[in-house]
Amino acid sequence: MYSYTQYTDTLNFDGIPFPVRVKDIPKFERQNPQIAINVISPDEENGGYCVEYMSPEHSRPHHVDLLLIHDPDSQTFSHLLRCRTKHHGVSFVCRSCLNVFLSQRVLDSHIPNCVQHAPQQMVYPDLDEYKLKFKDHNKEHPLKFYLVCDFESFLIPTDVFHVQTKTRKLDDHVVSGFCCYRVTDLSQYQTPPTAYSSPDVMTHFYKHVISENEKINKILLQQVPERPPHFARPLATRDDQ
Ligand SMILES: [Zn+2]
Repeated sequence: MYSYTQYTDTLNFDGIPFPVRVKDIPKFERQNPQIAINVISPDEENGGYCVEYMSPEHSRPHHVDLLLIHDPDSQTFSHLLRCRTKHHGVSFVCRSCLNVFLSQRVLDSHIPNCVQHAPQQMVYPDLDEYKLKFKDHNKEHPLKFYLVCDFESFLIPTDVFHVQTKTRKLDDHVVSGFCCYRVTDLSQYQTPPTAYSSPDVMTHFYKHVISENEKINKILLQQVPERPPHFARPLATRDDQ
């Protein structure tokens, strides 16, 4: 804020030492009732900016926005300029949350809601770090068997008016066939899919599902001796000692 020393004659800096500290800004605003000051500073951690001070005086004729740089050798200015070049045309920045808006109208409607809260800084998550991934494969319980079924049906026109629900039913779905496939990774129990199309499809479908249920239950109820654990080296016996 050294550059503001040239205004010492027009502005009231009484009792405010140079360089002006952020904590002295409210005092400056009290002594200069035409001016409101806002200060942001770069946040090196996330490559954005945070609000150091936001003026409570929203209706003053002059608003001055300052950028506070802690390390004058930092890349802040190039970063700032690089960001600015992405915007073609005028942008409108909210001084409280530093969000950029494309029109004054949208910013004006945003401000009353925004200033209800303390100045805030938006930090976007790193895309790769915050992707939702399922990793607990050891907690899965894979099914040894399951059935996948698909039905075919015709739309048969009908015209029934339901007085109570005040709805008119236009078509009936009439099932014309099904295909059912047993899925298992045990190759000795894999079967070709069962397809059926003819009258009375649903009776045949239920009969098929019940028979599959019986067959699969029979397979799962088989008592199979557990495989002996595999040792890299045979255990020592008494004779070896
Ligand atoms: Zn805002």
